[in-house]
Amino acid sequence: MATCPKCASQNIVKNGHIHNGKERFKCSDCGRQFVENPTNKLISQSTKDLIDKLLLEKIPRVRIAKVAGVSERWLQKYVKAKYESVPKQVNIQLKKGS
Ligand SMILES: [Zn+2]
Repeated sequence: MATCPKCASQNIVKNGHIHNGKERFKCSDCGRQFVENPTNKLISQSTKDLIDKLLLEKIPRVRIAKVAGVSERWLQKYVKAKYESVPKQVNIQLKKGS
């Protein structure tokens, strides 16, 4: 499901394609046009390292995205994936040798 990068509305309509064949979307609420995953540009490890550091500084993600030159959307995914990969408190109750 596409989400408007400007107002976060999900009131999105398809609005043709861009040159490389990707679908273009338009937000019905604010009129913003956008392409989901504009380019699959690879984020370098050094950028990720920088982001990791900035995340520790409790800097707003909007700013981190700007400083690192990544999209907020990408950053959100990155952070989410990061937290999911970190072993959390083990919620699964260990079976006590029953
Ligand atoms: Zn919008």
